[in-house]
Amino acid sequence: MAVIALNRDLQGGLPFPKRVFFAYDTRNVICADADESVLDQVVGECLRLHRVFNRFSADSEISQLNRSLGRSFTCSDDVSLLLWLSLALHGESEGAFNPAIGSVCDLWDFSQERFEKPGPAQLERALACADLSKAGFSDDGSIILPEGMSLDLGGVAKGYAAERAALMLMQAGAGRGFVNFGGTIAVIGPKPDGSSWTFGLQREGSAYGESFWALLDAAEGSFATSARYYRGVEEGGVRYHHIIDPRMGHPVQNGVSEVTVHCAGAAMADALSTTLFVMGPDEGLAFASDLGAAALFRMQDGSVRASSGFPVRILEGGR
Ligand code: ADP
Ligand code: MG
Repeated sequence: MAVIALNRDLQGGLPFPKRVFFAYDTRNVICADADESVLDQVVGECLRLHRVFNRFSADSEISQLNRSLGRSFTCSDDVSLLLWLSLALHGESEGAFNPAIGSVCDLWDFSQERFEKPGPAQLERALACADLSKAGFSDDGSIILPEGMSLDLGGVAKGYAAERAALMLMQAGAGRGFVNFGGTIAVIGPKPDGSSWTFGLQREGSAYGESFWALLDAAEGSFATSARYYRGVEEGGVRYHHIIDPRMGHPVQNGVSEVTVHCAGAAMADALSTTLFVMGPDEGLAFASDLGAAALFRMQDGSVRASSGFPVRILEGGR
């Protein structure tokens, strides 16, 4: 939610047809050199994917899967693909990315009127349910979840939708434009004059589009940002937010304020931004580099650390 497309998006003056719609709990923009009818199809597909992955809707496939405990469930291709990517990253990251973190996320419920911190015994029980080695996965796409497990693909589903949207547009002949789903961005190609698009990293606490601390320039590739200020509550000087350290069962407290990942695909960028937030800058920058991705960390003390060549312009006084 932290990255905003500049390029006069806010004034409605983009050079190609565009669509703006709300899903994934955020504002989504599609802008490409494609027919209006193609844009409508892409929005339809993204809304369909939202209905598949939304664990806050009882009808979604992910909710049905989470209710199937102990029984074999045959997943759709979308869920199978995203689970496959998530499981691979779970292994590579030694558990920093955990798509079975739903039982723990449910305990840190920031939507309730009075926020209550979960107790140690509750957390221990929820963490035991997030042990993916207890789930059974078959090559035919069926899966058996153990009692108490709850899959949560919230760390990657928005990127998967952004990537799908960009692919659909490219398959329909688009060569220029971008998709920006609440800060998860897939760039299709450059502006009409061949130059890069510019995206703004929002200054913490500022209103949508009001102020940025850095600008990102790109004519290709994807970006995703994970930020601690996006969702959560403040209590006793501590910020409890929506990115969980699966080793502790607590919201991550490692000095990271936000992390942006730049790599080829939006699903990977989204999954990696969540992963790197958990890892912190030392481990995270090395991990990103091993995977051919680049990362930009902003720490709570205001310091910035980035992979070399990250396409960022830091703005001193904001904008
Ligand atoms: P946003 O949804 O704000 O764009 P992220 O991409 O970082 O931010 O996703 C955060 C979401 O990922 C959480 O709301 C939760 O659903 C899920 N999540 C939280 N911690 C983890 C984790 N360690 N591994 C995988 N998913 C996580
Ligand atoms: Mg993410």
